[in-house]
Amino acid sequence: MPSHKNIKDGWFRETTALWPGQAMSLQVQEILHHEKSLFQDVLVFKSTNHGNVLVLDGVIQATEWDEFSYQEMIAHLPLMAHKNPKNILVIGGGDGGVLREIVKHPEVESVTLVEIDEAVIRVSKQFLPDMAKGFYHPKVTVVVGDGFKYLKDNVGAFDVIITDSSDPVGPADVLFGEGFYALMKKSLKTGGIVCTQGECQWLHLPLIKQVLESSRLLYPTVAYAWASVPTYPCGNMGFILCCNEEGRDLSRPLRIFPPEKEETRYYTAEVHAAAFVLPAFTRKGLGLP
Ligand code: SAM
Repeated sequence: MPSHKNIKDGWFRETTALWPGQAMSLQVQEILHHEKSLFQDVLVFKSTNHGNVLVLDGVIQATEWDEFSYQEMIAHLPLMAHKNPKNILVIGGGDGGVLREIVKHPEVESVTLVEIDEAVIRVSKQFLPDMAKGFYHPKVTVVVGDGFKYLKDNVGAFDVIITDSSDPVGPADVLFGEGFYALMKKSLKTGGIVCTQGECQWLHLPLIKQVLESSRLLYPTVAYAWASVPTYPCGNMGFILCCNEEGRDLSRPLRIFPPEKEETRYYTAEVHAAAFVLPAFTRKGLGLP
């Protein structure tokens, strides 16, 4: 088997300074791909129980086993909270899973995905076909480039912007700053909603608090939601939602998927509302009443 610094004795171990003293481990059946792209270390391995796994710079991005909960929630929370989402932008998201979810909405007319690293798109098409099928939908346009720069050139263009980024180190660092939220606001149409990967309430409350507070200076409506994603740190992933319209309740879905179509495996209208209910320690840590 080829070697990788995070794989020892047949186990992948996710160690990073972002969650010191803990490490998610997955048993490896086979390394399928490893390269150093222009931006990051890109690894795909076949796990013994959780399907193929995409890892960037040593951090698990998606497993075929549990990816649906994250992809569905980051896509359907903002789209279902929007009155009429027609033009959608995804920043990051190079595995294609968020695209797969967005195109389930018949109201959507166009989706643009801006991913900085072509290697992520290429290996996802090869090794994560159920996620990457989103790339082949006729409403989808893919741009390989920096999402931050792309926003500067596309003012007032989108109903929903979804930032499916990696963690705030490396190329994704700029995607957590105040400047990025200000740029996204300029790129929204009236009534527009942004939804960003909001890290983990068990590990990153100070960072989440800082992003929420700076967002509130820009957007009249800001909310935090979360979902269970077993292979993310602490099995928990948050979402930061901001709307440029005052008085909006983003926890209330404005439409539902027809039950007979069985469009989702995690998301339901009840899960949507429940995702915005925060535990007491989270409310306290975020300075919420
Ligand atoms: N959903 C997973 C998660 O949160 O762990 C996967 C996210 S992964 C697909 C995030 C993607 O964002 C990576 O492919 C990375 O290359 C991309 N990315 C990071 N910085 C970016 C930037 N400045 N502009 C566009 N894409 C960026």
